[in-house]
Amino acid sequence: MISELKKIKTGIYPLSEGSYTIGWDKIFKPFDVTIDSMTDRPASLLVEIQPFLLVTETQNILLDTGLGFYDSDNELVICNLIEQIGLQPEEIDLVLLSHLHKDHAGAVCRKENSQTKNLIASFPNAKYYLQNEELNYAYSNAGSSYDLEIIEALKQSGQIELLDGDGKINDEINYEISGGHTPFHQIFRINANGERYFYGGDVAPQFSQMQRKFVAKYDFDGKRSAALRQQYTQEGLENDYTFLFFHDLKTPFCKLKMENGKVMKK
Ligand SMILES: [Zn+2]
Repeated sequence: MISELKKIKTGIYPLSEGSYTIGWDKIFKPFDVTIDSMTDRPASLLVEIQPFLLVTETQNILLDTGLGFYDSDNELVICNLIEQIGLQPEEIDLVLLSHLHKDHAGAVCRKENSQTKNLIASFPNAKYYLQNEELNYAYSNAGSSYDLEIIEALKQSGQIELLDGDGKINDEINYEISGGHTPFHQIFRINANGERYFYGGDVAPQFSQMQRKFVAKYDFDGKRSAALRQQYTQEGLENDYTFLFFHDLKTPFCKLKMENGKVMKK
């Protein structure tokens, strides 16, 4: 008898990797709100890390991958979260990367096992989509924001699909270079499940940033990011977009509406 493949419900699944502080050294330290205090982490920024699994009728899409922390069983946190939903890492079809900063691309590869430092693709059957120029930029600006060891391992995996400029991956997925956060940062518009999803990576990382004009110091071009957020907000209001926010555990995703001249959650 042929067993029926287990099918999980279509939709968005936030994969929260938790909260972290990041200091001048660009090192991410886990931050537990119930025990840790920001006063012990001077000159640090509190960030939440949250990739997404988007399940459509035809494909399982991962939107960025997170920092790549391991749990106590030596398994990547993100893989464990995917398994809890009812999928295996082998069932991820596409990994869409907004950019290659380590909090977004840190889990593209994982240690083969606990005994070795050898890195292999975390999602062995997936194609990884990233911008060619973002890859070049990572290599030529190899600072603390990029983990080149992991990026190099991904390159060696042969699973990369390099994108040049704007275009379409398939009938459901469109990509566009936004710049702003990094010079070749890209955003994704995905039409699936009767919805219009918008993933703005670090150009649109939190709901609150869609509500007010905010120029971030951590952006390559903060003014451009701020202007783009206003443009995307407008576009989202007109097209009933569902926005996915990578750095927002409180509002992982939502639609927007205007209320008394203010952008609100729908
Ligand atoms: Zn970034």
